[in-house]
Amino acid sequence: MNDDTHIRLSFEFFPPKTDVGREKLIKTRAELNALNPDFFSVTYGAGGSTRDNTRGIVTTMKEEGLSVAPHLSFGGDDEEAMLSLLGQYKDAGIDRIVALRGDMPSGMGSALQLVYANELVAFIRKHFGDHFHLEVAAYPEIHPEAASYSEDVQYLKGKFDAGANSGITQYFFNPDAYFYFMEHCEQAGISQPIYPGIMPITNYRNLARFSDNCGAEIPRWVRKRLEDFADDQESLLAFGVELVSELCETLLENGAPGLHFYTMNQVEPVRQIVQHLGLQDA
Ligand code: FAD
Repeated sequence: MNDDTHIRLSFEFFPPKTDVGREKLIKTRAELNALNPDFFSVTYGAGGSTRDNTRGIVTTMKEEGLSVAPHLSFGGDDEEAMLSLLGQYKDAGIDRIVALRGDMPSGMGSALQLVYANELVAFIRKHFGDHFHLEVAAYPEIHPEAASYSEDVQYLKGKFDAGANSGITQYFFNPDAYFYFMEHCEQAGISQPIYPGIMPITNYRNLARFSDNCGAEIPRWVRKRLEDFADDQESLLAFGVELVSELCETLLENGAPGLHFYTMNQVEPVRQIVQHLGLQDA
């Protein structure tokens, strides 16, 4: 599975808030598991707001025999609480973490002191050695708070220098942003793999809102096309599958080492895209 030709595939979930959502996720992960992903990941709410929920889902998935990585940030926690949570993950057989700074929970102003991801990576390495494979976030279109392009790349390098093993990107729709970014990472001395994060298109309004918040650009022609579909959900989905499949194809043909899908806890259209690419047999 670790040879150079292997295309790594991973699927991200968020922890549902309701019993109905949790039930649905059981079905979703079983169906997506049939596509042979290398691992799943489960997000962590800003400020640690989903601590118990994320841990519960991750440990249940692990018990089901799935390979799963919790996302983690200090949030408002102190070192003791982090050590305890990481210890629980280790004891549960978890060996991969997506290590993040995270954002301020909405309505908190600047009440929390956010801990940069490189510090979390160093903290995990200090206390748990090489037990965990550590993934960190990367931003081909640059993190919205970054002072400059090159500074953001340098901070990413800092996360690898602290001991991260690989990166997963924020989503983007312009493959050139990823290729250009990878060149700069290489020039900065980053040799670890950075996996493109892929956002399927299922709803224009949500996507536009999300993208404005996280600094991901929807190209104007794509926005215009999506606006055209208005309430024609079927055409929007078909356009989205075609666009995102082509993006994935371009990425993989030009050296991307795999794909990480932001599934939004839905089987489709991720399954269609993966099948389109023939990756379920990879
Ligand atoms: P950092 O790498 O710490 O960077 C944050 C900002 O500070 C950047 O602008 C960077 O240039 C700058 N910076 C970095 N290091 C330093 C330093 N040492 N000194 C000064 N400046 C520095 N959010 C969640 O709340 N929960 C999740 O589960 C989650 N999962 C994500 C998964 C992926 C793959 C990605 C790409 C993002 C995810 N996010 C999640 C969003 C992420 O938490 C936000 O983008 C957050 O604002 C930055 O987190 P980071 O780990 O990239 O931060």
